[in-house]
Amino acid sequence: MTTASNSLDARMASNTELGGERVPGETLDSDDEPPPPCRVVGEPRPVGIASTPTAPVAPSPPRRHVPLLKVVPNGAGSGPRFRTPSSPLTRAFRRTHYPDVSDADWNDWRWQIRHRVRHLAELERFLVLAPDERAALTEGASKLPLGITPYYLSLVSATDPGQPLRRTVVPTLAELNRSPEEADDPLGEERHSAVPGLVHRYPDRVLLLVHDYCTTYCRYCTRSRKVGHGELSSSREALLPAIEYIRAHREIRDVLLSGGDPLSVADEKLGWILEQLRAIPHLELLRIGTKIPNVLPQRITPGLTRMLRRFHPLWMSIHFTHPDECTPEVQRACGRLADAGIPLGSQTVLLRGVNDDLATMKRLMHELLKMRVRPYYLYQCDPIVGSAHFRTPVSKGLEIIAGLRGHTSGYAVPSYVIDAPGGGGKIPLLPDYLVGRDGPDLILRNYEGNTYRYTDPA
Ligand code: SF4
Repeated sequence: MTTASNSLDARMASNTELGGERVPGETLDSDDEPPPPCRVVGEPRPVGIASTPTAPVAPSPPRRHVPLLKVVPNGAGSGPRFRTPSSPLTRAFRRTHYPDVSDADWNDWRWQIRHRVRHLAELERFLVLAPDERAALTEGASKLPLGITPYYLSLVSATDPGQPLRRTVVPTLAELNRSPEEADDPLGEERHSAVPGLVHRYPDRVLLLVHDYCTTYCRYCTRSRKVGHGELSSSREALLPAIEYIRAHREIRDVLLSGGDPLSVADEKLGWILEQLRAIPHLELLRIGTKIPNVLPQRITPGLTRMLRRFHPLWMSIHFTHPDECTPEVQRACGRLADAGIPLGSQTVLLRGVNDDLATMKRLMHELLKMRVRPYYLYQCDPIVGSAHFRTPVSKGLEIIAGLRGHTSGYAVPSYVIDAPGGGGKIPLLPDYLVGRDGPDLILRNYEGNTYRYTDPA
């Protein structure tokens, strides 16, 4: 597993080979990473970044002003000065662990991938590990490899194993337990896999697994049976059967690209996949499910967003877990995607000890809206093997929804769903607002607990 993961990293970061194929002419274009972070108007362009001709593109809409994206100066006289807008945590982390790494490198998504933390010895350079965490990595029996980008690690507490973000990316021994209700494939995706890498569970839409690579692995991943194993390739040969299946099934109008993380492939490869799909006349909607904007926001380059906007209507669901993920870097990434006209929604898994309280969830939803990300789904954690320590009672999710609905903007209230084990699909859950019926009247309860009658038309 580790070997596969290493080889994937090498391919992702090599900039020349992805999914076993050479990607010709893949060079950094002048607007691509590393970005010129917060260039002062009139400042000369950085030298040394190759400029390649690009296809004509529609002019970009005027940039929206995002007030939070200010240059945040370092503490005076306290080491290297970083010009990238970032949180105090990230600046402190860079000063401690990467004092000589330039902004250009730090903001290069390929540099971030090359420097992912994947092994116990690497992780111990950054974190004081609890015995439980060290044992989980030593015993190595988890299906899911370790993987954390330096950027995301900068948000993780070095000393507190209970910190929410740390719990989501650092394994513990609890992952190795198996409860009776748990399964490797709780959603029955394999049963609905029409061809390798494609899940056709709903009548008019399919899930296309672009590959099984993620830059950062979530310890509660529903697809831990697959991701990080290096078995699902993003090569054209591997993807063509799935594309042909979609072409042959005219009832499919909506394709969700997922994985692994679809945004962790190079622009050219992703562009090729999207082109193939857009050439299918009966496809109306393309969607991308990703965690990249928040674990590797450096990946959201102007070059990427320019490419993505060619494939509208293209929607994106971004996986968010906790408000601490909403940093200046992530705000900028979401801003770029939103400016490219991509409607952004969030997907959040309800996790014990991470986000299972109303205040945290409300803060996350508010931060998302500020970044133009519409809260979309709040998922009850799927019963994958080793997830018991993450799962909360359903009553907790209902309590959170009841605490949001009516108490804050309606846009800030996601749909709370259980993805039914066995492949039954998403089933929405709501607190009981319809409390009874009296003749033609419905008895309704509002968010304050007051009851009202509504005469139900015959
Ligand atoms: S980003 Fe998604 S696919 Fe990747 S590990 Fe996290 S939950 Fe799984």
